[in-house]
Amino acid sequence: MEIESILLPGVDSKRPIVIAGPCSAESEEQVMDTAKQLASRGVKMFRAGIWKPRTKPGGFEGIGVPGLAWLKKVKQETGMYVATEVANQQHVFEALKAGIDILWIGARTTVNPFAVQEIADALKGVDIPVLIKNPVNPDLELWIGAIQRIYNAGIRRIGAIHRGFSSYDKKMYRNLPLWHIPIELRRRMPEVPIICDPSHIGGKRELVAPLCQQAMDLSFDGLIIESHCNPDCALSDASQQITPDVLDYVLNLLVIREGTQTTESLAELRRQIDEIDESLLELLAKRMRISREIGVYKKEHNMPVLQAPRYSEILEKRSNMGESMELSSDFIKEILKEIHEESVRQQMIIMNENN
Ligand code: PEP
Ligand code: MN
Repeated sequence: MEIESILLPGVDSKRPIVIAGPCSAESEEQVMDTAKQLASRGVKMFRAGIWKPRTKPGGFEGIGVPGLAWLKKVKQETGMYVATEVANQQHVFEALKAGIDILWIGARTTVNPFAVQEIADALKGVDIPVLIKNPVNPDLELWIGAIQRIYNAGIRRIGAIHRGFSSYDKKMYRNLPLWHIPIELRRRMPEVPIICDPSHIGGKRELVAPLCQQAMDLSFDGLIIESHCNPDCALSDASQQITPDVLDYVLNLLVIREGTQTTESLAELRRQIDEIDESLLELLAKRMRISREIGVYKKEHNMPVLQAPRYSEILEKRSNMGESMELSSDFIKEILKEIHEESVRQQMIIMNENN
């Protein structure tokens, strides 16, 4: 893939790239007030939803086309670039006509290849940065597929937005971060910049700052943060929006770790890790060999592969042992579950061999 920078002229390439603005454009006054406050604090890219995908009917579904004129005014009066969400072809045409600088595809759209393809088709021959949010479900392939559809339409300025994944069981986060998914996206598509959306992950103001810091510590390229001049009165996502003042405070507190130089002491620690990993693999291979021998024994003695009491005993004993070694019992159980599953698979192969 030949990805080009999403940075527009005049936007600092230093981490983090910042996009900020309200969840929704609500009124000209709210848009202009928020935009002016953000611009005076150095924000260069302004976001505002014009068409809002609401979970249930009856919520604020966005101001629609009239709001695009307000974004135009933001550009003229503050010099910021403006970004909005597009979910279908009509949105793309309207946004382009209004001179929107950056488009993003929302999480509820990324899940639907028909919708993404429709947007991709509408973008053929257009040169504009497009940011693709992760789908609401934790499916990396769907996220990658959406990026590929936009790329195949000829768009080269592409970014990914990590906004978390919905879960039935809502706990601390509105959308679970599942950091391993954007980390895997980085491995699979290293050239695509990743922007974290702490507002939609956290769902609460107080989670914005710690999530921003986590994203920076994971080397994400940027942040897209919801900011509203009067968050408590916001027509959508009120509990997660912060004032431009608070946004400024949060950004100033961020610790940006850029170090990449490998010192001798780091190299030595890495050598130790390499050796340990090698030993772990050797031990795992040995364990599997013995497990296969057990499989042969079970077959000869007509015993079933799965011996539930033995499995429970292993889980119980090892997780206790792990805890005494400062290893979390969840972590140990997870590893043992995987190892046990592989052992069972191997023994099933032996059972099914006809000899
Ligand atoms: C938004 O950015 O306001 C939005 C609707 O986000 P998401 O698609 O991540 O839910
Ligand atoms: Mn929102």
